[in-house]
Amino acid sequence: MSVADAFVLECSVVEAAVGLSDRDLTRCVADCAARERQSLAGLLGFLAEFDARDLHEPAGFDALYKYLMHHFGWSASSAFKRIQAARACRRFPALLPAIAAGDLNLSAVCALAPVLSEENLSRVLFEAARLPREELKVYVEDLRAEQAPEQAPAPPVTPFQLTLGAVIASESLGASERTPIDPRWIPPPSPLERRAPELTSLNVKVDASVHALFARVRALCAHGPTGRDPARVLRRGLEMLLEAEEKRRFGAPRKAKRRTEVPRPAEAPATVEAVPPEVAETVVTDVVVAESGPRVSCEREHVPAALRREVYDRDDGCCTFVGQGGHVCGSRYAVQLHHRIAWAHGGLNTADNLTLHCGPHNRLMAKREGLDRRPPRRAPEGPRGPST
Ligand SMILES: [Zn+2]
Repeated sequence: MSVADAFVLECSVVEAAVGLSDRDLTRCVADCAARERQSLAGLLGFLAEFDARDLHEPAGFDALYKYLMHHFGWSASSAFKRIQAARACRRFPALLPAIAAGDLNLSAVCALAPVLSEENLSRVLFEAARLPREELKVYVEDLRAEQAPEQAPAPPVTPFQLTLGAVIASESLGASERTPIDPRWIPPPSPLERRAPELTSLNVKVDASVHALFARVRALCAHGPTGRDPARVLRRGLEMLLEAEEKRRFGAPRKAKRRTEVPRPAEAPATVEAVPPEVAETVVTDVVVAESGPRVSCEREHVPAALRREVYDRDDGCCTFVGQGGHVCGSRYAVQLHHRIAWAHGGLNTADNLTLHCGPHNRLMAKREGLDRRPPRRAPEGPRGPST
């Protein structure tokens, strides 16, 4: 029986509970609660190592929280909380016995993680044990003030600042570079979001210059198709930014061939269409010099914009990495061109040999092919266990 199996509860216990005395039932509830705490500690310990090995990447996910949501049906908040707690436990393994004993629950670990240090670990484990939620909140604020007395108290964090961007950015880093997720980043669903999941709020703090810029754009758009509606103005602005950024990174979208009225040379066959100058130019720049075998130089040949755009459109801007279980990553996060046969191994800049991969999967493939240029990982920071 594996360690994980030892914590599995049998469903038949629920049926048997009907016939138990009050005393036995009370004892059974206490036993199950203890097993739940031990199971949580075990989960966090295993999850910490799973995270450190980035095992979600070969399974076809660019971020651990997506893997957990997909495989275990957890909500984003549940996944983030457990990831944060697991990372805290990796830094401070002494948290695990405290969780198993019921001195700290999942929320408490997440609240304490940002203020834990090697120096205060023993004291915090003693003082924060079984603190009620409100008292724990005050305790954490006191610890923050203790650690940075000269700093002004941090302003309240809005749900947008949570924000997925920060969490995802953290997920995209190597395990040793990640910082624990601030629990304030975890957004509780608003009543509006619970009632109408298709609508979501976007709260962002901006300085006066951005506010003035937004007001100016809204005023300018007042008589246009978007009107002054902030959501529509924002959408239009984001669409334009998306288009500009796609063009900058992957080239302009291919234009449909236009029939031109340019007179054909007399000697040309009548069935051949005239090629517009911009298309003809594209064809010339798309020519790739064929090569084979490993290259002596790792200096990459520039991938023409038209080819980048072709690959981007074909892959719909998504990572095409397929995990071991057949899961297609599909992430749009930091996608980049990937050579199916590596450039250093003689792969060509052709549409067939190029595809899109997200950052984590591009790095994973580079590592598999021995081309990872990233420095080796550092050992995890922080103590590995209670000082003995
Ligand atoms: Zn990917």
